[in-house]
Amino acid sequence: MRKALRIAMVLPAALLLSAAPSSLPPAPAPVPTTEARAGLPLPPWQAGMLDIHHINTGRGDASFLILPDGTTLLVDASGKTVEAPPFSLPTRPDASRPPGEWVVRYIAKLLPATGHGIDYAVISHFHGDHMGAILPDSPRARAGGYQLSGITEIAEHLPIGTLIDRGWPDYAYPEPLKGRTLVNYRRFLAWQQAHRGLRVERFVPGRKDQLKLRYAPGDYPQFEVRNLFANGVVWSGTGAGTRTLFPPVGTLSPQDLPIENKLSIAFRVSYGRFDYFTGGDLSALEDETLTPAQAWKTVETPVAQAAGAVDAMKANHHGSWDANSAAFLRLLRPRVIVIPSRADGHPSVNTFKRMTSPATWPGPRDIFVTNVSPATATTTYGVEKAASTQGHVVIRVAPGGASYRVFVLDDTDEAQRIKAVFGPYASQ
Ligand SMILES: [Zn+2]
Repeated sequence: MRKALRIAMVLPAALLLSAAPSSLPPAPAPVPTTEARAGLPLPPWQAGMLDIHHINTGRGDASFLILPDGTTLLVDASGKTVEAPPFSLPTRPDASRPPGEWVVRYIAKLLPATGHGIDYAVISHFHGDHMGAILPDSPRARAGGYQLSGITEIAEHLPIGTLIDRGWPDYAYPEPLKGRTLVNYRRFLAWQQAHRGLRVERFVPGRKDQLKLRYAPGDYPQFEVRNLFANGVVWSGTGAGTRTLFPPVGTLSPQDLPIENKLSIAFRVSYGRFDYFTGGDLSALEDETLTPAQAWKTVETPVAQAAGAVDAMKANHHGSWDANSAAFLRLLRPRVIVIPSRADGHPSVNTFKRMTSPATWPGPRDIFVTNVSPATATTTYGVEKAASTQGHVVIRVAPGGASYRVFVLDDTDEAQRIKAVFGPYASQ
């Protein structure tokens, strides 16, 4: 009874907000079907499934998770970057809309199956390809005096319950965060808190109850999201304990402060035997030039030690040259790797080699790349052997978590049509 009432109250509110701008497609009624083959639209999520959508806009990371009880979680918001191409690939499906709007429209097609809006949004770190850069000509919100790109654009169309980032409330680590995008973001948060009931929290490493099932946690005791890392603090592996990897800011010279990528939020999603890792733009490989005193900058290894082996992962930092070290991959031993690429060199030749070489870790693995640009195709040797080289990538975990499949969806239009199906894989 309570559940029916909540759906009746929440869904119209979500659709009301989402329908206001002319940018959204009409939400189709979910048609329950289990048939999933190439050429057909992806069957809707059903209760008990865990869906992990890696939405490909060509312009940055945006993942959307539907948890087993219908709780929804957006991780990053894609969005414009300040840089011009080749630092970003062309917008998918096309350039007629900004990336944040494409993400909204993709999510809006999934929400009717859940009956909820966006329960949680996590911003892994404060870069434009994850939160949406604000440019002088970015459009203005209908109210609140802020501009729209990435996360602010998504919230303009779909309500968000709780937003979690690494900086709340002072945005002062490792130094006060400045710039047009951050100023705009904080204005957005303040207005949404005052007028839309948005809750904002700082991500707390070590916890397993910050991102939790909102609707029927008792039905899925084998589900858990464990916070692993942010801001140089990593889960100790015991209880909610943590340890701090980075030296105190006061002991570092300004040029030695940790860069934004190495502050990224990382967490592990577990469902029965299934485990998934996501860690923003964490990186490691500048350690080839590091002095022993700078070893703390190699953050990937302690994060992977905290995570343990996983079934599937989102590659760190779009598969760039400096991320997904051999030590990191050897600890995670993923069966499935999703690389959300957004530029030439994603994945880089050396990173792809580490991912594919049995010398890194034994056993089979499938690699799914959301885009392979012509330049990447000619320089990243062997990338054509990836399981896929274009499209949205959806990991669908079966109820209980014992097995999962991977769907590659056509990203040339909005039909969410299946291009290929992989699996089922047995969760380890
Ligand atoms: Zn990035």
